[in-house]
Amino acid sequence: MIVTIIGVGLIGGSLALSLKQQGLAARVIGVDRSPENLRKAQDLGLIDKAHKDLAAAVAPADLVVVAVPMDAMLTVLPAVLDLVTERQVVIDVGSTKAALLAAVQAHPRRARFVAVHPMAGTEYSGPEAAVPELFAGRTLVICDAAGSAPDALQLVETLFHQLPMRLVHLAAADHDVHTAYVSHISHITSFALALTVLEKEKEEQRIFELASGGFASTVRLAKSSPAMWVPIFRQNRLNVLDVLDEHLHQLQRMRELLQQEDYAAFAALIEQANHIRRIIK
Ligand code: NAP
Repeated sequence: MIVTIIGVGLIGGSLALSLKQQGLAARVIGVDRSPENLRKAQDLGLIDKAHKDLAAAVAPADLVVVAVPMDAMLTVLPAVLDLVTERQVVIDVGSTKAALLAAVQAHPRRARFVAVHPMAGTEYSGPEAAVPELFAGRTLVICDAAGSAPDALQLVETLFHQLPMRLVHLAAADHDVHTAYVSHISHITSFALALTVLEKEKEEQRIFELASGGFASTVRLAKSSPAMWVPIFRQNRLNVLDVLDEHLHQLQRMRELLQQEDYAAFAALIEQANHIRRIIK
């Protein structure tokens, strides 16, 4: 297969490496708004050829992957669908789905598009962050599959199955609710924790010396880029607000219990939180 990747960063670059490593892509063409990232992607062997022109990059592709931030996705995906023929397949890898699917719902080539979200990533960005093993053993969410042509869906399912990923089907609206809980809120709490510590603890050397594994793992996501996360919060604003309200309520409960020195109730609350072990080992 010839694969064209638009946005040769963490996810686009990792997918290029995975598809090549599994022998699923014979040739990978890269397009990016950043000439620097395109050059790096070529030097790192993520792509075989860099293109400045979208139409020239899309024309030879069997599969086109749109892997740009979510704000750009709303214009880049329709522009790609304007270019593809009935023999080509297009996927996105975006973190929010309802707004994107609404943007292409009436497009004459909608059926050539399969909306997917690989539930895999890191806090790093750009082509240097790309790794070949990012997707192995993780979940791929496929959204609103009824709008995709059967041959396009089959190609995408076969491909990701071989990476290998677990495939889950969801409606776009449900995807956005669930990711607000499992992904978006954890980034907000990590950003808030980093800000809290940076604001209150002025002795940076002390943070560095005392930071334990617990602090490092809770604050890891706060290294993620605003260019990627602000568009996600904008597109999933209502779901994130809902989850954030619940989160603030839980924080407020803990604050009150501590203020009232009600340690028995605090212990009961922690025990209740420990039930997360049932879901995540
Ligand atoms: P990234 O590492 O920042 O890569 C995005 C690349 O797209 C950058 O090279 C960027 O260039 C380029 N770009 C931006 N606007 C563009 C445009 N209009 N046309 C062409 N190229 C453009 O981001 P990423 O983490 O791979 O995220 C890509 C997508 O994957 C996002 O939609 C995100 O929601 C989704 N996703 C991310 C994760 C994660 O953990 N990071 C996980 C699953 C899904 P500049 O550097 O110049 O902006």
